[in-house]
Amino acid sequence: MIVTRFAPSPTGYLHLGNAASALQGWQAAREAGGRFLLRIEDIDTTRCRPEYAAAIQEDLAWLGLDWDGDVRVQSLCFAAYRVALDRLDALGLLYPCFCTRRDIASAPHGPDDAAVYPGTCRGLSAGERQERIAAGESYSLRLDMRAADRPGLGFHERGRGRIVCHPARFGDIVLARKDIPASYHLCVTHDDAWQGVTLVTRGEDLLAVTDIQVLLQNLLGWPTPDYAHHRLLTNADGARLAKRDRSFTLRAMREMGLTPDEVRARAGGGSNGRA
Ligand code: GLU
Repeated sequence: MIVTRFAPSPTGYLHLGNAASALQGWQAAREAGGRFLLRIEDIDTTRCRPEYAAAIQEDLAWLGLDWDGDVRVQSLCFAAYRVALDRLDALGLLYPCFCTRRDIASAPHGPDDAAVYPGTCRGLSAGERQERIAAGESYSLRLDMRAADRPGLGFHERGRGRIVCHPARFGDIVLARKDIPASYHLCVTHDDAWQGVTLVTRGEDLLAVTDIQVLLQNLLGWPTPDYAHHRLLTNADGARLAKRDRSFTLRAMREMGLTPDEVRARAGGGSNGRA
């Protein structure tokens, strides 16, 4: 059975680009008699707000998209992500990193626009790690990409076929931080597996980092779903839609008097036949 999901982060109101991801997943599930799930990705409690999470459900309902089962809320699931982290740790694939943002600010950036970690803390001795942790220094946990990489991994991208992964180009990524105990990649990978997702629909800004997620699936023994990354919608200046493009939020369009069907058409989906 096909299982799709929409996994927004409640850091603002849904915009047309989010609606495109949701519609694509909803249509794929509904056409095949499968399941469409809703997951709130709110692990970054410094940026996410409960009122936006509530607005997401309201906006999806207005658009005519219904979801199956309970909404999964990631901020309630940190214990499950901890278990996954412990498994990676037991495989010897994690190490504590004491560097600050400033320490690595000058490192070259990877395809996701984040600094590629130069590996400063990778070689610290067990004794030094213990000492610094005992002294109360704050640290993040990084994946040792040299030990973790599994060359030849790949995934199926709808419309494109098999894409071979090259996760090493992202360097030793952070999987947990002091203020956010599990990273986006860990949680998304965990939940796609835990919820039995078979097709991930989302914007193509996440195509490159799929390599990281496929690697984590492989290390943790989880299946790799199919992926369908859609083109990013743009504003009048041709720039990709961002949460600050207020006129593209579903709310603003609704206030301007657009109907759900009109908004669905703009997001690239057809009528749901129920309006
Ligand atoms: N939570 C992510 C976002 O809102 C999307 C994650 C995903 O679809 O894999 O950008």
